[in-house]
Amino acid sequence: MALPLPDERYKADILLVVAHPDDEGAAAPYLARALDEHKRVAVVICTRGSSGANQAGAEQAAALGDIREIEARNALSTLGITNVWFLGGKDTASQNVLQSLANWGHGESLELLVRLVRLTRPELILTFLPGTFIGEDHGDHQASGVLATEAFDLAGDPATFPEQVAGPANRRELFLENLRPWQPKKIYYFPDADREDIFRGKGPDYSVKEISKATKQPYWRMSLDSFRAHQTQAKSFLDSLAQMDEAQIEKMVTSDGGWTEDMHFVLGKSLVGGSVTGDVFEGITAGAIPFARPDVSPEPARSDLSVELGGSYSFYAEFRRVHGLNSLPHPEPPEIAVQSPGTLAIPLWVRNQTAKTKEITLSVSLPAGWTLQSGTGKFTVTAKQVAAARIEVNLPSPAENGGKKPEPREISVHADSNGQSIGEFKLRVELRKRALPQ
Ligand SMILES: [Zn+2]
Repeated sequence: MALPLPDERYKADILLVVAHPDDEGAAAPYLARALDEHKRVAVVICTRGSSGANQAGAEQAAALGDIREIEARNALSTLGITNVWFLGGKDTASQNVLQSLANWGHGESLELLVRLVRLTRPELILTFLPGTFIGEDHGDHQASGVLATEAFDLAGDPATFPEQVAGPANRRELFLENLRPWQPKKIYYFPDADREDIFRGKGPDYSVKEISKATKQPYWRMSLDSFRAHQTQAKSFLDSLAQMDEAQIEKMVTSDGGWTEDMHFVLGKSLVGGSVTGDVFEGITAGAIPFARPDVSPEPARSDLSVELGGSYSFYAEFRRVHGLNSLPHPEPPEIAVQSPGTLAIPLWVRNQTAKTKEITLSVSLPAGWTLQSGTGKFTVTAKQVAAARIEVNLPSPAENGGKKPEPREISVHADSNGQSIGEFKLRVELRKRALPQ
């Protein structure tokens, strides 16, 4: 008698992991192409979109999340995708990925996502690029990329969430799931940064203007039609779209540009070779591959007394190091866009690995019109301790700049001890009339 095997209806070639209902639109034109090539696609959305304004009705908060879950399912089913799961994380209005992860319940969300990787057994994962950039840079978007990367590295490990991969202990098993470990083969990211320079040549590009064999429509058009499901998020845009004829829609998308730009992916890592800019399926053949622990690079050398940028900046440096993402683009110097007038917080780690309490002096160089609020001066750190510090800066209104894009300005932070420099770094800061909280 044949023993039961994994259910083929849930096997995916591509697993898309995004943060919010409507984020699937960021990859929809590529998904339409992949479906044309008979790839199987599954989608995980980390939140249910329960915050934000409702453009279509009175419902708010959790009730709005109930609606947005259905809108995302409808959007994806327009493309032919029905294997869609929600992790139930809470929307977090912040640029700080660590706040999103905390608000979602990082451990529980990761457990849910590892289960879904083992259930769907994807050849590759597509997700938002985990990093901090000037751009849309939503902490939830970044968090979806962090979770997806963690799940990529853990789902193949039989010792991670072993209850998920344990065979049944009873005839009617209530606790053990009888999934198998699964190692995805590749992970690709899509950035939502303003800059494109550092992503060029880091992964394949796909035109969205090609015509689908299945629908005879361009891929961008299939993506736009799929987006029509998101009434609570874009009713006014969708109402105006409904009034347009084909020629007007064509004109709108070519002048707006956003709908018809090429899709850029960034290769995170491949366990099966293939070239960086080749097709995402290059090197992939059917069947499971062995579990691969990430290639962890050594910790960076630090002097015994050091000061460095903290917060999500130091997190991402560690994240890239332990997940073997050494060629993942990140801005140097680090950058952020913040709302102004307002306050910029610069998080710092002060490390004292010497055997004595040390006094350090923090200072900062600011552009004209920017003023120090707090956080500089003399501090002590006891022996063998790492302490968090923060410098706060008052930001002026953004310069008008004649309607042009504002230029980021540079801040530099200096740390001294005993008259010797123990750390110096820069941060590029763009002032905006509107930006998510830091
Ligand atoms: Zn989003």
